[in-house]
Amino acid sequence: MATDHKDPKAGPPAAAKPSNFLRGIVERDLETGAYAGRHFGGSPGDAAHHAAGALDAAKIRTRFPPEPNGYLHVGHAKSICLNFGLARDYGGICHLRFDDTNPEKEEQEYVDAIIEAVHWLGFDWTVGGTSHLYYASDYFDFMYRAAEALVVAGLAYVDEQSAEEMRANRGDFNTPGTASPCRSRTPQENLARLREMRDGQLADGAAVLRAKIDLASPNINLRDPTLYRIKRATHHNTGDRWCIYPMYTYAHPIEDALECITHSICTLEFEDQRPFYDWLLEHLADLGLLARPLPRQHEFGRLNLSYIVTSKRKLRQLVEEGHVTGWDDPRMPTLFGLRRRGYTPASIRAMADGSGASKTNIWLDYSVLDGCLRADLESQAPRAMAVLEPLKLVLTNWAEVNGADAHLEPCTAPAHPQHPELGQRRFTLGREVWIERDDFAELPAKGFFRLYPPKTQPDGSAVPGNKVRLKYGMVVECTGCEKDAEGRVTQVLARVLPDTKSGTPGADAVKVKGTITWVGVADALPVTLKLYDRLYTEAQPEAGGRDHLTVLNPKNLVVAQGWLEPSLAGTPHEARFQFERHGYFIADRVEHLPGAPVFNRITTLRDSWAA
Ligand code: ATP
Ligand code: MG
Repeated sequence: MATDHKDPKAGPPAAAKPSNFLRGIVERDLETGAYAGRHFGGSPGDAAHHAAGALDAAKIRTRFPPEPNGYLHVGHAKSICLNFGLARDYGGICHLRFDDTNPEKEEQEYVDAIIEAVHWLGFDWTVGGTSHLYYASDYFDFMYRAAEALVVAGLAYVDEQSAEEMRANRGDFNTPGTASPCRSRTPQENLARLREMRDGQLADGAAVLRAKIDLASPNINLRDPTLYRIKRATHHNTGDRWCIYPMYTYAHPIEDALECITHSICTLEFEDQRPFYDWLLEHLADLGLLARPLPRQHEFGRLNLSYIVTSKRKLRQLVEEGHVTGWDDPRMPTLFGLRRRGYTPASIRAMADGSGASKTNIWLDYSVLDGCLRADLESQAPRAMAVLEPLKLVLTNWAEVNGADAHLEPCTAPAHPQHPELGQRRFTLGREVWIERDDFAELPAKGFFRLYPPKTQPDGSAVPGNKVRLKYGMVVECTGCEKDAEGRVTQVLARVLPDTKSGTPGADAVKVKGTITWVGVADALPVTLKLYDRLYTEAQPEAGGRDHLTVLNPKNLVVAQGWLEPSLAGTPHEARFQFERHGYFIADRVEHLPGAPVFNRITTLRDSWAA
């Protein structure tokens, strides 16, 4: 490493293991046997189905319930790691459930992408040969049956007020709601009406099914919430079979209960929905439709990361307006974007797990993710040399020292300094070498220990050109440089010092303060380097209602043409390396071709954004 570079080994995120109150809840429930003795029918189902099944071998059941209306992002990774992690750690099973009860926004494309992303992150829902992949839309029949049961029990009614009337009659914090004229209908009337809704005899929006709870409740969610609406829309799974669709707040608790979920973990904004969650499930269990013990909802704070946005609308805007190249652009905080950028599944899991779970939303600095990536790759990514901004260095006395200008001196370097079993990289040193442009300074600043030419001090004394070691190669002494008409340096000149080759006896006799990385011109591979950086210049791109597009980082991608050492010939897609002194890179999974390499910079070796 260049001795005038800082220690590149940025450590893992410093925080001590953060609290995770959800683990505490699960441990307490296991201790008290809250969910012991549950039966599981082998698949989701009603009370009778589960009663006929064996004791559930899973100690707990959790679920990750994405709505298939977009791509998963880093915030979802938090929820995935929590739910699958709790199941893994406590002898449970985590289901992947598509919460696809809204017919308008959901598509198969997203279903496939979500499956791929969760697998990539390292989680699986197949246990003992049974796949616990479920679709909420498969429960539409049960949901409707439950709706009829609520109506018959006098716990729900069909309301034909207009949407405005309903809003006005809901009241507010200070005023209780006002009953709809439909609220006093008999169960028989309501049942007939509900069936008309189902059978397509009412227009879209002409009526809704509402729970009959408490119009004066201080919790507005209990003021007769809507359970079903009429909407003629083709659903990606059930086609045109239904023209009424359940509301999320009605569907979600039922989905959990049908699947025998024990711990239904969701984000904080659902806290006010918990009383309705419990109301609904208790009544349906009392009516004999759902198995006990019932699932319990537990809320935790969202994970937000600085320098990104996660709202689906904003992400779509970035894609559709061409600020990025697509949903998998390496700058996108989607799991596909993070994957293509080069983040490892382990680094994302480490960040998610390390952020704990609490009752408040969490803001994590993006550098934590980079720290997790470095911690993961430091010990495993093979090393290689690459020149990002090339400048030619000519060793003018090469023939004198090595016999001929054409001589190529074989050099070796360990593939990984801590893993000798990974073997050696091979490359050659010759008369011409690519070095980094900023490893040469015609007029060096104080403390610059890399290449600079000889100079004469104001007092007339001579300072010799500086000596550096070409890493794994030989020591060279700078003798000058050549420049073009504009004064830009076109090549650097140096002499090579005999008997200084790394690894040979006496090679260290010449002391140098700097070591630089390089690639031999004779065997260098041309490479396209995509130097990615933060998407935005501001940690909170939307702070104070700001338009996130106004703080896009203009340098969030710099494309460079550089050179790679020859050992990287034929690198497969998605192989990751540490390019010495420069950072971690990955062979791009889309654009990279073994004969025309394209590497993405995942992150630098240290945090260049630290204040
Ligand atoms: P958005 O509202 O941003 O479009 P969503 O949260 O509604 O996304 P879902 O598909 O419903 O998207 O999310 C699936 C699960 O992931 C939910 O349980 C949700 O609470 C959780 N989740 C989404 N974003 C985050 C986040 N930033 N932190 C933790 N969990 C999250
Ligand atoms: Mg949602």
